[in-house]
Amino acid sequence: MFVFKETSRNAYNNNRREDSFRKNVLNCFGFNLPHTDTSDDILRELPPIELEDLKAHLASGLIEQKFFRKFRFQNQSYLVAIDATGIATFDHKHCENCLTKTSKKGVVTYFHYVLEAKLVTSTGLSISLASEFIENDPGRDYEKQDCELKAFVRLAAKIKKYFPRLPVCILGDGLYPNNTVFDICQKNNWQFIITLKEGNLKTFQQEVTLLKATSSKKNVYKTTKTTGTTLEYEYLNDMEYDRKYFSWVECNETVVNIKDKTTKIQRFTFITNVTQNQQNIVQTADSGRLRWKIENEGFNSQKNLGYELEHKFSRVSFIAMQNYYQLLQIAHIINQLTERSKQVVDLIEEHSKQTIVDLWRKMMAYLIFPHAEQNILTPSLPD
Ligand SMILES: [Zn+2]
Repeated sequence: MFVFKETSRNAYNNNRREDSFRKNVLNCFGFNLPHTDTSDDILRELPPIELEDLKAHLASGLIEQKFFRKFRFQNQSYLVAIDATGIATFDHKHCENCLTKTSKKGVVTYFHYVLEAKLVTSTGLSISLASEFIENDPGRDYEKQDCELKAFVRLAAKIKKYFPRLPVCILGDGLYPNNTVFDICQKNNWQFIITLKEGNLKTFQQEVTLLKATSSKKNVYKTTKTTGTTLEYEYLNDMEYDRKYFSWVECNETVVNIKDKTTKIQRFTFITNVTQNQQNIVQTADSGRLRWKIENEGFNSQKNLGYELEHKFSRVSFIAMQNYYQLLQIAHIINQLTERSKQVVDLIEEHSKQTIVDLWRKMMAYLIFPHAEQNILTPSLPD
């Protein structure tokens, strides 16, 4: 269902009812597809850790096959972006683990949030390594900061369990510059590049303000047909926070539109345990900015490009909800690699208007409609 980007159990079932669809699937893949009510029964019972194990096993396999080697930070560590996203909202209590939020008018909303660790690359890959559901803390109103950080502690343990020797560089947003995260990274021997927002780590930022005049700088200019971009990189090493020492990194980006001369200015500030120099400052700041990939390529495509992350695949069972979530992550990994395979890339380049959406539509048409050779070939199961 998720690999075909079917968007709902109903859509998948409608196709499955077609005799030709069942025959074509059997011919192509060598197995019969179950009715989703049957798989749903299993997904309500199956401990979610089983599919999480499977996903981690698949991701490990890809890492061992050196799929992501060339995207490593400083030819050494894998960039792992951490972020939470909402996956379902209800106006009634959906299960015992629902998080709740009460509006000023006293209206209670029930919802589910999941914290993700995804391996991200500059080319837009976003591969789920581990997922941790942020679960209800009974009797307390939901506070993102508390709960997301607690889930991060559990998520970090999962990453370490599944990928014990993987060199990791954690990318996090403005919720993550704090001692809990710094200590976990130190203990696990992980690097980190974490967004520093105004108001984060006040004493650290005060020291930055004091020493900014002594910072080291590096400028990069880039031009395209329509824009001219100036990137001003700046860093300070050995900055103290709570008797620990980190580096401060900033990137000021000015994009000038050559045609209408409009400018767009953006600032990105990070704290990192990677000591900075003229050789690694650009890669450090650019890697820090890759955290956005988990939102764009990760959550956005899972919400809007056929996977329907926010669709309620199970309206009653929290266990099933977690299992559908894991299956979606696995399907997304398979499809991201398929979409970048030579065969698919060649097909896309063949026609200027061909898109991934068109290709998937054609694939579904191929599976749904009867083929002429079906009269000759009898489908058979492999031994
Ligand atoms: Zn629930």
